[in-house]
Amino acid sequence: MVEIGHNILPASLGNSSKITSFHFGSTSSSRKVYIQAALHADEIPGMLVAWQLKQQLQRLEAEGHLQAEVVLVPQANPLGHAQTLLGQQLGRFSLASGENFNRSYSRLAARAYSQVKSALGSCEAENTRLIRKALLQAIAAEVPQTELQSLRWHLMRLAVDADVVLDLHCDYSAVLHVYTAERLWAQCAPLASLLGSQVNFVSDAAGGDPFDEACCKPWWEIRDMAASDGLDVPVALACLGVTIELRGQQDVSASLARQDADAILDFLRLRGYLTDWPVEVSAAELATPTPLAGSENIIAPHPGIVHFLTTPGSRLQPGEPLAEIIDPVSNRVSVLSSRYGGVVYTLENRHYATTGMWVAKVATGQAFKTGNLLSA
Ligand SMILES: [Zn+2]
Repeated sequence: MVEIGHNILPASLGNSSKITSFHFGSTSSSRKVYIQAALHADEIPGMLVAWQLKQQLQRLEAEGHLQAEVVLVPQANPLGHAQTLLGQQLGRFSLASGENFNRSYSRLAARAYSQVKSALGSCEAENTRLIRKALLQAIAAEVPQTELQSLRWHLMRLAVDADVVLDLHCDYSAVLHVYTAERLWAQCAPLASLLGSQVNFVSDAAGGDPFDEACCKPWWEIRDMAASDGLDVPVALACLGVTIELRGQQDVSASLARQDADAILDFLRLRGYLTDWPVEVSAAELATPTPLAGSENIIAPHPGIVHFLTTPGSRLQPGEPLAEIIDPVSNRVSVLSSRYGGVVYTLENRHYATTGMWVAKVATGQAFKTGNLLSA
């Protein structure tokens, strides 16, 4: 294992932050897995999974079972961890700019394509090698101008040439669920099965340039650019990017972390990256996807107490009561339900609703939304 520190451009005199990455296996391998935790710094379950992975990967590497490079970043967002305001840890948005830490990652496809266009040929593996190099060069050429840009830049540099990128998040009060691109679903399905994921969102354009999408989207964008230029060259979808929501913010438990780390390692076994024992997922065991455009936000129509009538993971019929909003002053009570029905995959942690606040989200299976599909 090699430990590397990456200094973040400081915003102010006397301050310094760094990201620490842990590198396992051989860098000469064409197989690279990148795993990070707590990009939203108030989402801690993934950090405990990363700690489990760190220990297991050290052992697996020492025993000679690791046939890939694995880069692990247990604390992806030291800036967010330093944001404590009036006793509350705020990790989703940068206090300096209001920006979401998991949005606005670089779009590298056009610049990488211009570098490799004339060199692409008939060998898919060679094209993959050329494109990975060009993606690395494209991100290396960027010059971050703020602390937040510097954080994003370091993370992209560590991940963009990986063939598996796992971004470990969690939701408020939730069941385990994942997000990936629709066209990557076949690659993601065994991972979702091994994790026991209960809802598997797919979308080829979630919007807002989140980290996982910024890593994997260039592959089909470059494929499309080559096709529109009339080039008959094979371009693989050579990066599987997945955001894994490890249940809710309070689900920080050693047994769950071990279970999740084991599932991730089993996925590496399934791909042949770990060779201590074989893992397979049968077709019957494969998870099934649901459209991200079918995620329904259940909104509080007025302020009041949120009283939930369901729990995460419940499957509700259309119109079935899910929560009530109670105004103890006026006696107004509103019963909320899903228009379409489906699986309640997350509930708000807060039990006081302001008007327009979402209090629950339901995976309906019906793609009824367009535009940006991720929440703020
Ligand atoms: Zn998150």
